Order: sequence, then C-alpha cells, then structure tokens
Amino acid sequence: MKIKCLKCNDIIESFSTHDYKNCKCDACSIDGGNDYTRIGGDTQYINFIDKDGTQKSFQNNIEMWDLLDDKGHKTGRTIERGKLPEGFAHLGADIWIINSKNEILIQKRSINKRHSPNVWAMTGGSVIAGETSEDTIVREVMEELGIEIKKENFNFIKQYKVKHRETSPVFLDTYLIKQDIDINDIRIQEDELSEVKWATWEECEELYNNGQFMHFRWEAVKDLLK
Ligand SMILES: [Zn+2]
Repeated sequence: MKIKCLKCNDIIESFSTHDYKNCKCDACSIDGGNDYTRIGGDTQYINFIDKDGTQKSFQNNIEMWDLLDDKGHKTGRTIERGKLPEGFAHLGADIWIINSKNEILIQKRSINKRHSPNVWAMTGGSVIAGETSEDTIVREVMEELGIEIKKENFNFIKQYKVKHRETSPVFLDTYLIKQDIDINDIRIQEDELSEVKWATWEECEELYNNGQFMHFRWEAVKDLLK
C-alpha cells in the first residue's frame, strides 16, 4: 500500500507489518504493509496510489460527483467521475489568487491534460460528492501548489455554466482570494501542471489573445478582475 502526502508531495509505502513510514513533513504515516494497513494523519491531505499509479483521495476512494440538473440544482444522486448521463451537469470550483500588487497567480496546465493541455489558467477542479466548492478549492490548491489557503478569506465572484462539445456540462463556482504567496514556497504537482507564476492583468490578456489562456475562464472573469 502506497500513499502520497499532499502537503509535502512525499510518497510513502509500508512493505510489512512492522514497517512504519512517515512522510517528510510528518503530516501523515503508513504502517502494517498490505495486510494490516494503518494510515495516520489528516485524511484530506492523503491520496491513495493504486498499483497502476492512479491517485484517489483517501476520503473518496472512488471519485464521486454530485449529480446536478441542468439548472445546477443537486438531484440528490451521485455518479462516478466522468460518467454523467445526458441532460445533467456537475459542479466545479475555480479560485483566482491575487496578490497585493494586483498580480494573478496562474498555472500552466500539464501537456498531458485531456482538456486544454499546455495553456495557462487559474487553479480549480471538480467538486467531489460531499464537498462544498470551497472545500474543493482548499484541496486543489494544496494538491497542485502545496499551499494552504483559508475559506474565510474567499470572496465568491459568481457561478456560471460551461458546456463544450468534448466535456460534460459543468457549473463553476468561482472565487477570488487576496493572498501574497512566495513563488518559492510553491511545490507543483507535476502531473497536473508544469509552471506557475504571478502575472499582471495585461499579461493574462495577452496570453488570452495569443490563445495561451483557458479562454472561456478568462472571458468569464476578466472584467471582474480588472
Ligand atoms: Zn508530508
């Protein structure tokens, strides 16, 4: 059994009953090998790693989404990630992180991403069943950037619906947070993104004009961020 600490990105494995391992930052631990596996620490910052290398959050071993109707209301049903029936939608969450110089923290999506690879965007992700969109953002920022942010500091901007030919419809809860983050404190999750930087509004607009920004995300918020 292998787990990944989302605080320090350390991957640890216990091979036998008395093989106790701690991650580098001591936030989580694993013991007991495969037969008596015991995992310690804050489960929201732990991912399981399967034999084939895929990662699943500890709290939701299979990633489930709340099923929304086409108006964005919860139906009370959950479905497995990516298996939306026709006419339904799911919930996503985006965060725009802005520093005191009014720069925007943007990340370049990994070239291996199925949707919009190799373009710049804000940080965000799919809401897992049982989470609020704010929970999702806290989790995604920790997973992708290794940074802790606080829900109390979020400002809700808006919710809007996105539907593209190649993706299922998603309602995006969009938030803004004012926070100064030292770029050197960021530890990126390399399977999700390749680069992160602070950019001015004008730089983002230029990336957008050159087709290098996730276009519908920028279009939806650019006037609000100016
Ligand atoms: Zn750790």
